[in-house]
Amino acid sequence: MEDYPRTLPELEARFSTEESCRQYLFALRWPDGFKCPACGGAQAWPMQRGLWLCAGCRHQTSVTAGTVFQDTHKPLTLWFRAMWYVTTQKNGVSALGLQRVLGLGSYKTAWTLLHKLRRAMVRPGRDRLKGLVEVDETYWGGQEEGVVGRLTQEKALILVAVEEDGAGMGRIRLRRTLDLTKDSLHRFIGDSVEPGSTVRTDGLPAYLGLEGYAHDRRVQRRQPEGEHLLPRVHRVVSLLKRWMMGTHQGAIAQDYLDYYLNEFTFRFNRRTSKSRGKLFYRLAEQAVQVDPAPFKFLTLHNP
Ligand SMILES: [Zn+2]
Repeated sequence: MEDYPRTLPELEARFSTEESCRQYLFALRWPDGFKCPACGGAQAWPMQRGLWLCAGCRHQTSVTAGTVFQDTHKPLTLWFRAMWYVTTQKNGVSALGLQRVLGLGSYKTAWTLLHKLRRAMVRPGRDRLKGLVEVDETYWGGQEEGVVGRLTQEKALILVAVEEDGAGMGRIRLRRTLDLTKDSLHRFIGDSVEPGSTVRTDGLPAYLGLEGYAHDRRVQRRQPEGEHLLPRVHRVVSLLKRWMMGTHQGAIAQDYLDYYLNEFTFRFNRRTSKSRGKLFYRLAEQAVQVDPAPFKFLTLHNP
């Protein structure tokens, strides 16, 4: 059963202690009861400060070990509030915004919390897109206008896949790429789109030879004003850029672009969700499934 707070007062009342936060994470991480990460055993004794002692192998663990929350020096009550703000603000929050709203002493703390949560926004083993899927590329950085050619030094390349849903859009996948080679494009499609689907692209030759898919290749011709060969991709790209320029004022270093793409994808794919609390639930659920990322890893993550 999906169990989540509906409002901020509900969140505040329910998650006022470390123990209440741990109980919530326990139910998300081990819905069928405790499972020892070392031996798989189901028997354990509760110890001090949220630790569990495995009855089988004596391994000591906690509900946060091996998750995004591992080794945190911040209370879970603070993490829960951070997850709440990140998921309930329509466009998300910047690190500065989070620092202010949580009353954090340091910008670095807010930044780290936020980036760890962004890592959790990609669900491990998530489903691929299917049906008809538009695929194209876009750029981030440098001047937005008037750049000729497909590749420039100071721009980041982003691959975009958007599911067709009638006249509208279904789910999306985004990925930063270093180049537009056949290898990169085909790998992105293979990772993002279910085989047997139809992939619609423009005439870029690197898309040729797609195996396992029907390929609807639209060779670029002069388009009437305001029309696009791949209208859904075009729409997603403009929403993405508006979000990066708006919420984050364009201040996104290319090294961290992947984290922002994660967050945008998480929000976009749940945009029709009626309850914001449900997004909180999803994020908490994914946060206990994702490996820990020490601060050093976050800052060194530079493919
Ligand atoms: Zn064990």
